[in-house]
Amino acid sequence: MHDADTGVARRDALRFGDRGLTYAELAAAAGGLARRLRGHTRVAVWATPTLETSVAVVAALLAGVPAVPVNPKIGSRELEHIVGDSAPSLVLAAPGADLPDALNTLPRNDIEVTANDLSDGQDGVEPDPEAPALIVYTSGTTGAPKGVVLPRRAISSTLDAVADAWEWTSADVLVHALPLFHVHGLILGILGPLRRGGSVRHLGRFDTHALTAELHAGATMMFGVPTMYHRIAGEVDADRRLADALSGARLLVSGSAALPVHDHTRITAATGARVVERYGMTETLMNTSVRADGERRPGTVGVALPGVRVRLVDEAGVRIEGGDGETVGEIQVTGPNLFTEYLNRPDATEEAFDGDWFRTGDMAVLDADGYVRIVGRKATDLIKSGGYKIGAGEIENALLEHPGVAEAAVTGEPDPDLGERVVAWVVPAGEPPTPAELADHVAGLLSPHKRPRVVHFLESLPRNDMGKLLKRSLGG
Ligand code: ATP
Ligand code: MG
Repeated sequence: MHDADTGVARRDALRFGDRGLTYAELAAAAGGLARRLRGHTRVAVWATPTLETSVAVVAALLAGVPAVPVNPKIGSRELEHIVGDSAPSLVLAAPGADLPDALNTLPRNDIEVTANDLSDGQDGVEPDPEAPALIVYTSGTTGAPKGVVLPRRAISSTLDAVADAWEWTSADVLVHALPLFHVHGLILGILGPLRRGGSVRHLGRFDTHALTAELHAGATMMFGVPTMYHRIAGEVDADRRLADALSGARLLVSGSAALPVHDHTRITAATGARVVERYGMTETLMNTSVRADGERRPGTVGVALPGVRVRLVDEAGVRIEGGDGETVGEIQVTGPNLFTEYLNRPDATEEAFDGDWFRTGDMAVLDADGYVRIVGRKATDLIKSGGYKIGAGEIENALLEHPGVAEAAVTGEPDPDLGERVVAWVVPAGEPPTPAELADHVAGLLSPHKRPRVVHFLESLPRNDMGKLLKRSLGG
């Protein structure tokens, strides 16, 4: 027992570039900081992708003080909203970090990662599982970000559920290149490996060479967003070392937005590896995933995780029975993974629930064997045209199969005849194809009513820091 403890203590917990902490060092650093958090009601964490941020969040969890991770690239308007809304009594930042005005007015504590204070910071009191642990702001894809109050119970249950689905153990080493102010990078990417007793190698920023090196050095898993897999898909044919590294990985996971089928197929063709897609939200943490031993069907996000229930409802809020693989409905979820409330927004909290069921705002179809296929967001991805309901994602996937298309987004705009017409926003790969050629390509692959009526060419698509498409900036 004692030997095993020593083994875990000496194991690498976190590594960011050439700086790392063993489990014992992390416990010392976070324990020392936790003692300094006592008496605080809420702490903001300046969430750069660093060891310091990880230590600060672990310290807040140890101290039982809710932490609010703040995106360091955030604009001043959004920052003022978050600081005003969450009212932290302290800000934690790496020594020397230059904080913007809205945070400079708060008392500040520097995060030291080499604490010599070996206290574990705990008073021997079991924390309340329903107590707020983290307040994470949504990505703001569809409106102003909302503060999501996440209890410890939601975090531990979601991490245990994905561990079951992904056969995640202490032997796993995760390559990570995501930001730490969002649930994907912070909860799955940092707290996940720590809960399992595994290790994290954070790349700072995503780069396929660094990814290749870490996978060749023994990393077993990668968590990424679709923009990273898009980069990989574009490079993997010409880069044998990258292809070999991916072939050898135990698990490649994608989430936060839909992984275009075209990118998934290209990666599989070059490496034999299949990407596991999972579907989650700030409010619900993880809902569904393809299981490690399950069939990886491109374009699907797998099945409900253990403990999570998923249902589809129609526009009248009536449950759509059975999984016919065809009928589109809104996804509702319930389970121990759910948040408690939106901070200071009882109205929004009330509106978000149908009894115990959380209305995700995402539209999907359900296959007979429980696989979920996301069609898109109710607010921006469902186009009602000529009596049809058309999902933007399907048309985006079709456009991406055209060799002249590097990136694509599809929206609807009002049309006097059709109600709405399909509009495509395309970043060309090389010489742009003509709009007619693209429209014919879509109509030929899908069906004529899905043909884009308008095609705009752009140099890049508007995306947020998670690589999510900001369709509201496209006028759609
Ligand atoms: P806001 O709620 O502020 O508009 P947001 O919904 O983008 O922003 P998040 O909680 O970060 O904020 O994102 C959750 C959303 O991301 C889901 O509701 C879903 O639309 C999308 N999403 C996550 N994973 C997937 C996936 N695998 N496939 C498709 N969409 C996904
Ligand atoms: Mg949302």
